[in-house]
Amino acid sequence: MIVIMQQGASEARIDHVIERVEQLGLTPHVSRGQFRTVVGAIGDKQPAHQAILESLDGVERVVPITKPFKLASREFHTADTIVEVGGVSIGGRGVVVIAGPCAIENAEMLNRIASTVAERGAMLLRGGAFKPRTSPYEFQGLGEDGLKMLRETGDRLGLPTVSEVLNAAQVELAGRYVDMFQIGARNMQNFQLLQEIGDSGKPVLLKRGFAATIREYLMSAEYILSRGNRNVVLCERGIKTFGTEVRFTLDVSAVPVIKNYSHLPIIVDPSHAAGNRQYVSALALAGIAAGADGVIVEVHDRPEEALCDGPQALLPDMFEELVGQIDKVAAALGRTIISANNKKEKTSHKGHEEHQE
Ligand code: PEP
Ligand code: MN
Repeated sequence: MIVIMQQGASEARIDHVIERVEQLGLTPHVSRGQFRTVVGAIGDKQPAHQAILESLDGVERVVPITKPFKLASREFHTADTIVEVGGVSIGGRGVVVIAGPCAIENAEMLNRIASTVAERGAMLLRGGAFKPRTSPYEFQGLGEDGLKMLRETGDRLGLPTVSEVLNAAQVELAGRYVDMFQIGARNMQNFQLLQEIGDSGKPVLLKRGFAATIREYLMSAEYILSRGNRNVVLCERGIKTFGTEVRFTLDVSAVPVIKNYSHLPIIVDPSHAAGNRQYVSALALAGIAAGADGVIVEVHDRPEEALCDGPQALLPDMFEELVGQIDKVAAALGRTIISANNKKEKTSHKGHEEHQE
């Protein structure tokens, strides 16, 4: 349930509510908004709890959260959450473009492709150092060496970086190099990993499992949020259906549904959904039109040489064209693509944890 404080309730009264929530054996999660503060009381609640909390000074009302994903729900936090990653805000009115190769293959190729995507409008650099491959005989990634290359390249270009971690043991290591973790589709329900990322407090791009329902997906986000890490960005990347023309089916409807259920930002990954560069741009635009807060796309200038996911990598010119198209779709929706020019402006009013009613 959530305890909605009266507008302008004093800190002392908020503290007292937090204390009582703890005494009832529940965990308090405070969300401070522009006008009022709400205190989430999460845990095994008893029927009497609501009346006890409602009787406290400064409390306006206490309402149950009906969804099983409490902290991820709009009931707990009505305003859109904006997650800040190394100076780039994800969520709100801006639309973000994340790009880079699937895997970091060597320093030279990473530099080349990163420069290309940075020139053409990417605001975050992606690159895998730990690759979850279906076959044990395929390239598994460069590990820590790859992370170092990503850090150096990101620093040189002024781009924050995102890279995948496959297990809880990699979190501390990768955390030294990346601005944002990625949890891949295959690990969406690796609960130990979710908890470790939750404890790290660092921004995370949490991909939807390709056979996960939206409820299961938001419960995974809840694992991270429940450890006190509110910097969760969701990513729809396609689910298994019966078609064979594309690798997965981008579940465009998940975007408005998740926007309805949750305050968390959500982006789309059309690359892994399509599995074929020919279809990537159309899916990216569909995602933005449906209300996504951005896209993550794979780009390669020599895809025939790529060690991973070459067929779905956009060529640099295709990427440039896509960024221009995203700009237009975003503008039609009253949104703006986040570019280097407005990065400052966007982040100066980042409104992290804003709670408006
Ligand atoms: C990736 O981003 O390269 C990746 C492996 O994605 P997913 O987990 O969505 O398959
Ligand atoms: Mn990939």
